[in-house]
Amino acid sequence: MSLIVQKYGGTSVGSIERIERVAEKVIGYRHRGHDVVVVVSAMSGETDRLLGLARAITSRPKPRELDVLLATGEQVTIALLCIALEKRGYPALSYTGSQVHILTDSAFNKARIKEIEARHIHADLEAGRVVVVAGFQGIDEHGNITTLGRGGSDTTAVALAAALKAAECQIFTDVDGVYTTDPRVVPEARRLDRITFEEMLEMASLGSKVLQIRSVEFAGKYNVPLRVLSSFEEGEGTLITYEEATLMEEPLVSGIAFSRNEAKLTILGVPDRPGVAYKILGPIAAENVEVDMIVQNIGQDGTTDFTFTVGRNDYERSLEILNTQAKELGARKVEGDNKTAKISLVGVGMRSHAGIASRMFQALATEGINIRMISTSEIKISVVVDEKYLELGVRALHEAFHLDRAPGTAGRA
Ligand code: ASP
Ligand code: MG
Repeated sequence: MSLIVQKYGGTSVGSIERIERVAEKVIGYRHRGHDVVVVVSAMSGETDRLLGLARAITSRPKPRELDVLLATGEQVTIALLCIALEKRGYPALSYTGSQVHILTDSAFNKARIKEIEARHIHADLEAGRVVVVAGFQGIDEHGNITTLGRGGSDTTAVALAAALKAAECQIFTDVDGVYTTDPRVVPEARRLDRITFEEMLEMASLGSKVLQIRSVEFAGKYNVPLRVLSSFEEGEGTLITYEEATLMEEPLVSGIAFSRNEAKLTILGVPDRPGVAYKILGPIAAENVEVDMIVQNIGQDGTTDFTFTVGRNDYERSLEILNTQAKELGARKVEGDNKTAKISLVGVGMRSHAGIASRMFQALATEGINIRMISTSEIKISVVVDEKYLELGVRALHEAFHLDRAPGTAGRA
C-alpha cells in the first residue's frame, strides 16, 4: 500500500461529467490499495474567466485581491470532486490551500511554497479518506490568500508529495506523456517511458508545456518521482526521475526541444576591452530582459563582435537599448533579426558520447539549413536557425537520431 499524490488539470475537471470520471479513476486507485491525495486545478477556462472579470474593472488589479479571486476556481473543483466521491460511497474531504496550511511567501500571483503541514492529511488518510486539495493556492504568514503563478497546481502536487513522502506524484493531463518532440511537428514523435529531471527541465523550458517548470525543479530537489499521464486513456505515461536508463538502452538523445519565439541581436566592432560585455548586457538585464545565448567573436584589430538572443517579445526594446549602447561604446553597427528559432537536442547520454554535435550539424547541412549560432551544455546542443527552417530542422534531427524508435531496439546507428 503506497501513498500517491495525483493532480488533475483543468481539462480533466472541465465538466461535471469529467469530474465524475476523475472520481471513478481515484476510486480505481483506492481499490488497488493506494492511499490517494488529489490536487485539482480549476475547471478549464475558469482562471482566465476570473482574470477577465478583474480586468474588466481595471488593467491593473491589486495583486492581493486578484489572488483572492483566482483562488475561488480551485475551491469549486475540490468540493465537486468530493461530492462525486461521497456519492459513490467513498469518504473524502476537501481542503483549500489555507486549510491544509500551505504556507507561502507573500509574493502575490507568484508565491513560493515555504512549508506544508502534513499532519491532518496523514490523519485523514489513516481514517480511510481521500484527501482533495486545491491546487495553485496557499496562505502567507499574515493569513493572506496567495497563488503560485499560472499552472501552479503542478507545483502544489509535487510539494505535497514531497511533504507527505509519497511514493509517486502523478500529473494527469490531456497528453499521455512526454514526447521526443512536439507530435504536431513530427507525427512520428514517440512517448518516452522515462526521462531524467535534468532532461525534462530542458524540454520544458523550451516549450514542451506539459508541466510547470517550477514543479519539475521542486521534484528534482526533493527527489519526488513524477509521472505524466493521460486522464482520458489508460497507460503508463512518462516517469521523470533521477535514474537514467541502463547503459544498454541509453539513447544518445532523448528529445528535441524548440522555440519559435527567438530574436538575435548583434553589435559589431565594439572595442575589445574589459567591461564591454557588461556595458552591453547590463542595461538589457536592468530592463528584465532575459538573455539566452551569448557569443563573442575573437577580437581583431582591437575590436570584436557580440551576438546574443532574447525572446521575440523583448526584441524591439533590446534593439533600442543596444543602439544607445552602440553610440556610447563607439561600435560600428547594430544588426537584428527577429525571425529566428532555436532547436535543441537534449539527452543525458551526450555526457558519455562524442560526435553528437557533428551528426547534428551534418543532418542540418543535408537539408541546406544554415546554422546561425551554436551553444552547448553537458546535456544539450542548441542551434539558432532561420524561423522558416524550424519544422524541417526538427524533423531532420528526429530522423537522424532515430527518435521514432524505442531505445534498445532497432539499432542506434
Ligand atoms: N488554475 C490555474 C491556472 O489556470 C492553476 C493550474 O491550472 O495549475 O493557471
Ligand atoms: Mg495546467
